[in-house]
Formats: sequence, structure tokens, C-alpha cells
Amino acid sequence: MKHDLKPATIAAHAAGALDPQSGGVVPALQPSTTFTRDENYELLRADNIYARDNSDNLRQAEKVLQQLEGAADTLLFPSGMAAIAAVFRTLPNGATAVIQSGIYWGTTAWIRDFCARRDVTLIEADVPDLAQACAKHDPALIFVETPSNPWLKSVDIRALSDATKATLVVDATAATPILMQPLAHGADIVMHSATKAINGHSDVLAGVLSTGRPDAQIWQDIRADRKGAGAILGPFEAWLLTRSMRTLPLRVERMTQNAQSLAEHLFDHPQVADVFYPGLPHHAGHEIAKRQMTGGFGGLLSVLVKGDKQDALRVVGKLELFLRATSLGGVESLVEHRHTIEPHTGIPENLIRVSVGIEDIGDLIADWNQALG
Ligand SMILES: *Cc1c(COP(=O)(O)O)cnc(C)c1O
Repeated sequence: MKHDLKPATIAAHAAGALDPQSGGVVPALQPSTTFTRDENYELLRADNIYARDNSDNLRQAEKVLQQLEGAADTLLFPSGMAAIAAVFRTLPNGATAVIQSGIYWGTTAWIRDFCARRDVTLIEADVPDLAQACAKHDPALIFVETPSNPWLKSVDIRALSDATKATLVVDATAATPILMQPLAHGADIVMHSATKAINGHSDVLAGVLSTGRPDAQIWQDIRADRKGAGAILGPFEAWLLTRSMRTLPLRVERMTQNAQSLAEHLFDHPQVADVFYPGLPHHAGHEIAKRQMTGGFGGLLSVLVKGDKQDALRVVGKLELFLRATSLGGVESLVEHRHTIEPHTGIPENLIRVSVGIEDIGDLIADWNQALG
């Protein structure tokens, strides 16, 4: 293939994956867990021994992601949390790590628990204090999420990378590799929950890590641990992911346009107190997001409705197209009342988190108008 293909081309062609055996334009699903040797005990394919190490379907999905991310190496995991855990498990006892506060609650909860068990000193800092926390505590690792979920805060990846020699890991799930490439801004490792927009059809659980520096010790450790400890994505999930990613740029383009229009509409609505979305000029992270994202600001936003918890739950209950379910990045729009899920983390009671899908924007706006009305 030619060099410098654009994301839409890489994705549509699944980075060139075909089925050489049948001539099919779609790669075959190969579920085998083990691979044969010939009469001289030579492997038929030197790169296929046992499915805990690798498989064709896994490599195909990783190749697409690696090219979309502009990475030198990419590893898939069975969930986003498994990818995050793979990073943190490289920390030795007694190490120090910094994480951004107010990020995806599942991440915070697991990291707190892990660090306590491992005797890892964990520092949690809000976006404006991250660089200072690194200067003060000299961590081995810093983990941030941008745009963050559900506050939609933006972390200046380049500034943070310049400010610390710690391994900088960026959870870019809400941005996708289509809208933001953290490695180009100085991140050491970029992480996505591929369960979200990368798969986009709410039917695969997966996580991914990519790096520009595959020779780094931490990456070698992550790679060895995935193989040894077996946190591997199955071939069927990898195959589905490859199939889904063919439309990733298209889906992201539409959900981003829809989210921008919905955010602007809701911000002007008399029943709405505020909207958190990096694409709105008044939003605190707008300038940073504009610098490091291209093509839009993603499909995730949070709406503060006027009133209290009951008012928010009433609006959520009246929505018809926005399904009441957790998760984000799917083709169908979702809403979640985060305070019900994590009442102890300071989420405002009147906050409704919205994942905007690829439906008709007129239908989506009409749904919110009737629910707020
Ligand atoms: C969903 C999510 C995760 C966890 O991913 P899973 O695939 O659900 O394990 C991590 N970070 C963010 C920002 C997410 O939205």
C-alpha cells in the first residue's frame, strides 16, 4: 500500500486485510487456539503457535489501530480496564503514580485499590495541578484522560509531556484516534476503551494501548505480561472490531457533528443551566481541545438541567431516543444520570451525561425539546 494513506482509507480497507485462502475481500475469522507443526516439527506459520500469544485476527485489528494512531506498536486487550491494568501492573512496589482526578470512575476505583494493595503511592490531582504534582512527587507514571468523562475537561498533553519525565499515559477514549493522536503531542502510551466509539456498535468489549516507543522497558513489560498472564482479546472480538472500524471515521464525523449541534442547542435552552462540551467556546478546555484535536470534539457531553436530582431524572425518564444506559460511543444515543451511579464522587445531581450517536440531528433535538419541555 502507498504511504501516508488517510484514516478514512486505512479504516475502509482494514489496513489491507484480505483472505488470501479464499480470495475474499473480508479477512476470515480463525478461531483456532493452537496451530500445527509439519512432520519435521516446523511450525506451518512461525508467528502462530498458540492463541494466548497471538492470532491473525488480533494482528489485523491491531494493524488498523496502529496506523490510525500513528503508533509504532499496538496491543489489544479484552477490555479497556484490562489495558489500564496492564499499564499499572508494571509498577514495582513502592513506586509513585499520579492520576488525574474526576476521570472515568471505574479507572479511579480500580487504580486506588491496586495502588493500596501494591504499596504504590497514588497522587490524585485536578487538571490545573497535574504538572505541579509531577514536579513535587517525581512519579514513575502519570495517567490522564482527555476529554475527561463526565466533566469533559481537557489536558494539555504537550505541556504535560514537556513538564515531566514520567511515563505519560493518555486515555483518549472520548476523542478516538480519528480526532486526536496523543503520541504526536508527546504521550508515551495512548489508551482507548475500544468498547466505545472504536467498536461503536455496543457489542464488543475491548481495550487498546499504543506507543511510539516500543523499545521502552515499560512497553516490553506490558507486552510480556499480556502474553504471560493471558489478558488477550479473542479472535471473534478482534474480527468484529476490524469490521466495525471500517466505518470509524464516518461514524466519528457524524457523532461529532451531532454532538456539536446538540451542545449548542441545549446551551441556549431555557431549561438548561450549563453544558460541558469541549466544542463550546465558553467551556474551560476549549482552547486546549482546539489545539490538540482535529475534526471536532467527540460525541460525549454533559448537560446540567435547571433544578435538582428529581428534575434531572424526570428529563432522563422522558427521553425516547436517548436510551437510558451506561457506556458511550455507540451508533445509538445514550444518557446516564451519573449521580445515581457514583453519588460519592462530587458529580452534580442535575448532571446528565450524553453520548451522541449517528441518528438524524433533528430527531435528537426534538427528543430533548419534548423531554425538557
Ligand atoms: C469505558 C471506559 C473505560 C473502561 O473501558 P472498558 O472497555 O469498559 O473496560 C476507561 N476509560 C474511559 C474513558 C471509558 O469511557
